[in-house]
Amino acid sequence: MGRLTYPRYDDRCGWNALLPKREPRPAATGEHRVKYAIIGGGYTGLAAARRLHALDPDAEIVVLEATEIGEGSSGRNSGFASQHDLKLDLSGAQLVHADTLNACLREGFDALTDVMAEGGFNCDLQHTGRITAAATPLGIDKVEGMAARAKALGVPHRLLDRAAIRQATGMDYYQCGIAIDEGHLLQPAALIRGLADTLPKAIALYENSPVVRFEAGPPSLIATDHARFHADHVIFATNAAIKNFGYWRDRLVTIYTFAGLTEELDAHDASQLGDPAWGVLPSHRLGTTLRRAGHNRLLVRSLYAYEKPLDPSDVRTALTSCFHRRYPMLSHRHLEHVWSGTTALTMNGAPRWGKVADGVYGAAGCNGSGIVKGTLLGQRLANLIVTGAPQTDVETVYGQANWVAPEPFRTIGFHAISAVERRKAGLEM
Ligand SMILES: Cc1cc2nc3c(=O)[nH]c(=O)nc-3n(C[C@H](O)[C@H](O)[C@H](O)COP(=O)(O)OP(=O)(O)OC[C@H]3O[C@@H](n4cnc5c(N)ncnc54)[C@H](O)[C@@H]3O)c2cc1C
Repeated sequence: MGRLTYPRYDDRCGWNALLPKREPRPAATGEHRVKYAIIGGGYTGLAAARRLHALDPDAEIVVLEATEIGEGSSGRNSGFASQHDLKLDLSGAQLVHADTLNACLREGFDALTDVMAEGGFNCDLQHTGRITAAATPLGIDKVEGMAARAKALGVPHRLLDRAAIRQATGMDYYQCGIAIDEGHLLQPAALIRGLADTLPKAIALYENSPVVRFEAGPPSLIATDHARFHADHVIFATNAAIKNFGYWRDRLVTIYTFAGLTEELDAHDASQLGDPAWGVLPSHRLGTTLRRAGHNRLLVRSLYAYEKPLDPSDVRTALTSCFHRRYPMLSHRHLEHVWSGTTALTMNGAPRWGKVADGVYGAAGCNGSGIVKGTLLGQRLANLIVTGAPQTDVETVYGQANWVAPEPFRTIGFHAISAVERRKAGLEM
């Protein structure tokens, strides 16, 4: 067994645990010559594979996934998918190009719904809109800022007071919020399974096949424990794990965040959760996300950790506290599944994307919105590789991730910033 080159979790993804058992595709073995190799079977990798096949149908395409489909971050997230970006940290350039940005997000979202429609699989996609809620004065400022931005951009929205949030979600916790009509919720493990299981037959997907060695070509050599691939073009769709291969260490930070799903609630307890489907995002970046999951469960996502996970029992305690503080009437209920997941953070919120070296490409750093953005970037990498045409709109709206200080300054900086931000976040957590 070689060095660890991918995020290996000790906990099972709760969303995946709710689904019927699935037989993973066999691990890679033998020696192969291929035109395209994609490392990572998440949203980015599978979107790239599909688009490569559409543009170059006779080419050999291989996807190597370290774990089982559904057990990576693409199955571990909260399942919010959106075609509008109203975050307050949008840079001036993004605001100027808001229409192009939204067109890009729509393209990513439509790509997903097209595959769902063609593949005929169900991932509980629901058009719920989304609420950004505030429990603190700082949060209220953020909500007001978002409302101003929504108005300026012509995005349909409503301001919610405490009673309206209570009616929608059952929580008497937040002082106010903004509801954006646009926004979907889905079951992320069901989505990534569906995307993988409906791949065109010409795309070879290998699971439980972590890449342990990489030598840039072309052709590049990609080795797992039992297979070797020689590829003209390689895409790193591993999110922050690309750093394990020596690339983009000065751009990406690996962040762990944590989620829990309640046990199934009976009809009486489920009736305390407000409307049949809703999702609440925090008004502070360290805050807590909540949503209904199916008819009778609640998902809570909170906490961040730098480069390594937290102690699982501390995580369970903290997530349970987030849940019970918001639903004191459900304090007899517990979290059945609690899990961790990684994502790649960049300092300015822009992804790192494009050519890495001759014949080597990558996309990472979707900062917590990779369902749609990862899909978009995966497709556009494929376009870039096959056609050579610059993807100007993506470059314009996202720019590139900026530089992150090396160690030990990075760790010191992260802990200092997160201590300040945690104090600011207060009850939003
Ligand atoms: C708890 C949580 C909640 C989140 N909530 C949301 C949300 O609501 N909405 C949203 O849009 N985003 C959310 N995100 C972020 C989202 O999950 C990511 O942005 C998204 O998964 C990125 O997709 P990706 O395909 O680029 O990377 P990943 O999903 O991380 O996929 C990369 C794949 O590469 C594999 N890999 C890594 N190294 C290797 C290797 N050496 N060899 C082979 N394979 C390898 C991994 O196993 C993984 O499956 C959340 C993330 C977490 C953790």
